[in-house]
Amino acid sequence: MYHDLSYDMEYRKMKRTLVERLDQGPVICAEGFLFEVEKRGYLASGEFVPMVSLEHPEALENLHKDFQHAGSDIVEAFTYNGHREKMRVIGKEELLEPLNRAALKIAKKVADNPLDGGEPNLMAGNISNSNIWKEGDNESKIEVHKMFNEMVEWAVDEGADMLIGETFYYAEEAYTALDIIQKAGLPSVITIAPMGVNAMMDGVSVLDTMKELEQRGADVVGMNCFRGPETMMPYLREARKILKCHMGALPIPFRTSKDHPTFFNLPDDDSCTCPAPHGRTFPTALDPLYCNRYEIQEFAKEASKLGINYLGVCCGATPMHIREVAEAAGLTVPASKYREKMENHFMYGSNERIAEHMQEFGDKA
Ligand SMILES: [Zn+2]
Repeated sequence: MYHDLSYDMEYRKMKRTLVERLDQGPVICAEGFLFEVEKRGYLASGEFVPMVSLEHPEALENLHKDFQHAGSDIVEAFTYNGHREKMRVIGKEELLEPLNRAALKIAKKVADNPLDGGEPNLMAGNISNSNIWKEGDNESKIEVHKMFNEMVEWAVDEGADMLIGETFYYAEEAYTALDIIQKAGLPSVITIAPMGVNAMMDGVSVLDTMKELEQRGADVVGMNCFRGPETMMPYLREARKILKCHMGALPIPFRTSKDHPTFFNLPDDDSCTCPAPHGRTFPTALDPLYCNRYEIQEFAKEASKLGINYLGVCCGATPMHIREVAEAAGLTVPASKYREKMENHFMYGSNERIAEHMQEFGDKA
């Protein structure tokens, strides 16, 4: 097949690196695909294995396109939990590499086809909490090393522009992820997810972990998942005072609080008549605990003002949340065309065509 090299060079020139983009302003990254794909009907809750890249590739491609339309500049390959250990749990280890490669190829395809035909998005490979990392257990650490290595290798092979290591609750596991990403030579994003004890599980403080990640040369250091705006922002404020590197902030859109810092133990005290059979709101009965879009907007506005340029939303995120974050950071995205227009509402609108008697119904409706 004829290959036009000059086109290739043009194309590469047009595509800025992650750090170039962050130096110039906000960069949006949609995450939290497990929850959204589950809601769309292509993944089992609880088990949470992203088989969707093999079983319903079109559904995954559509999801990426929806987030791209909402303003995501990064298309993150959906390989979260698509690691060797999880595949062993479900007895499908032989599908590990095909799953990873399929997810990476789908992400690449969407990233290479931006909606406006302009600068391509960045495709990100992904590694995350292994769930087997154990303090004082060298064997588990060697195993995690292998797991990360093979996933990073596949991501590089499939043309990733950057690598995201996320949702780490052990400091040392996060450092290990960073080390492996750096050896691959791609830009690195490392975001941590401290559990309810408000420190990393190996005893390192949240701030010290972020400081160490910066010291070790991560391009972006920050937090993702587990925590909503209320319990993530205090750490970000403190970290921003200390860190000089680019920072990332990707909370979950749920109302976590001082008493319940993460979504794992969030109670539903709001007249729930039918609690989940497994006894907790996580992960299938969190719906009434959602932040509204204005709360997400406020979070993103403050983060942006603090100079945190890598922004997104994790588990629970819908394209609407990503649009809110992008707009809060001052961007106009394709989905901005459909931002709320209450002025034309049939009862609450201010448009002169709205009938007066309908406006009067408003409070009784
Ligand atoms: Zn998440």
